[in-house]
Amino acid sequence: MHKENRVHVFNRLFFKLYLNYAVMLLVTAVLIGLIFMKLYEDTTMNDNLDKIKSQAAGISKRMSEFIQDEKYDEVTDYIKDLEDINGLDIWTISNPLAVFPMDEEMETNAYADLEGTDYISIIDSAFHNIPDKRTTYKDELYDVPTITVSEPIYGINREVAGAVLLVLEVDGLNKVIQSSLQLIVISIIVALAISFIIIIVFATELSLPISRMRGTALELASGNYHSKTGIKRNDELGDLAKTVDILSEKLLENDIQRKNLDQMRLDFFANVSHELRTPIAVIRAYTETLVDGVVKETDKVNQYYDRMLSECKSMERLVGDLMLLSKMQNPDFSIEKEPVDLIQVFHNIMRSASAIAEKKNITIQVIKDSPDYWMIGDYERLRQMFMIILDNAIKFSDENRTVHINLSKSDKIVVTIRDEGIGIEQADLGNIFEKFYKSNLRQNASGTGLGLAIAKQISLKHGGTIEVKSTLGVGTEFIFTFLPYQMEF
Ligand code: ATP
Ligand code: MG
Repeated sequence: MHKENRVHVFNRLFFKLYLNYAVMLLVTAVLIGLIFMKLYEDTTMNDNLDKIKSQAAGISKRMSEFIQDEKYDEVTDYIKDLEDINGLDIWTISNPLAVFPMDEEMETNAYADLEGTDYISIIDSAFHNIPDKRTTYKDELYDVPTITVSEPIYGINREVAGAVLLVLEVDGLNKVIQSSLQLIVISIIVALAISFIIIIVFATELSLPISRMRGTALELASGNYHSKTGIKRNDELGDLAKTVDILSEKLLENDIQRKNLDQMRLDFFANVSHELRTPIAVIRAYTETLVDGVVKETDKVNQYYDRMLSECKSMERLVGDLMLLSKMQNPDFSIEKEPVDLIQVFHNIMRSASAIAEKKNITIQVIKDSPDYWMIGDYERLRQMFMIILDNAIKFSDENRTVHINLSKSDKIVVTIRDEGIGIEQADLGNIFEKFYKSNLRQNASGTGLGLAIAKQISLKHGGTIEVKSTLGVGTEFIFTFLPYQMEF
């Protein structure tokens, strides 16, 4: 791996994921802990409160009876016993403002001693005949949480002669809260540790394909279009990997296409130079001979001039074909568009073709199913196109054969030109429309291999199709289709 590939640990996907997760976990744990503690505290407090409230009411009633019966001396023992049995602190306070306050003997705490403490308000409430309560976690008297309730004690004439306070220590609450806090902290640590492992596995699952794709992208950037991610997954990462693989395939295809194009261009130049070299060499040789004056006989000299003229003609034809081809291949070039009747085109063709056909005693047979075949196109180009095919048909046929031309019209115009010639090998069928692709047969000595390339371009420019079928030794058939033109009258 390159040095710059290394991502700082805090920037790693894994770390970011883990941080998010840990924060979420902590927040959840703290929230749950707080809610749990609050609920626990509330229920514990309420339970205890209900219990001591009824106890306080009972004690208050008993105290009133003691006052009624004037059994003041029994109170201390009574309270002591109750405190021992219930684990409570019981305070009895005499009401200093009462006409007949509770007897001092019955009192555990003096009002004056409690003045200034937080208990005074619930004592006052009880003196005003209103039972009250108070909860605290810690105060000047107790270090632990306590619940305190107050209840009035009635004396002579149902006057509030004093108050009873029940103080319950709930230090168990603190212990429960503390141990549950511990439990929560421990479980958070365990959860963080377990999730750390899970997230490492998960992050590796994520980051491994990402760095693989990065590697592939870098390979592609450096021109290695054979590079593939090799990742197969059913998630978004898999989709991304597939896309990267498609990209690499497309790049590879483009690369191959570009190389082919380059090669074609090179081949084309080589072909053109080659085709021009032979006639130029011939002309030069003849000219030199004539200039030297070695050959003087008029017959011979005329023969030389004839050869030179024919070489010039073939060069002219080659250059003309090339110019036509380059014009046709130019996407901006558009042909003349006028209504053309193919019957007229073939009349014209027959005039030039018959002369060549006669030399080999070849019959040209035309079969048609309509008096006219109108289409939109360029008369001269269409003539040239069918002439190329007919010229080949005659050229590649033995003597005394027939060339069949068939015209038919339905929703399309179909023209077929079939010969009984030498045929084309199946393997070569795909190449015959290529520029400079030609047979090396003796009868093709003057062929340049541009004919079919031109014919195909003309057909394409007319929005038509051109196809070929051939059987070696049986014959060849070229099939054209064009859209007919509906004449309006
Ligand atoms: P020219 O440029 O003079 O036409 P050419 O005839 O060799 O040269 P094309 O017309 O493009 O070139 O044809 C290409 C090749 O396809 C021919 O050389 C020949 O091998 C093959 N071919 C074309 N038509 C026929 C046919 N009717 N029968 C057999 N072979 C054919
Ligand atoms: Mg030809």
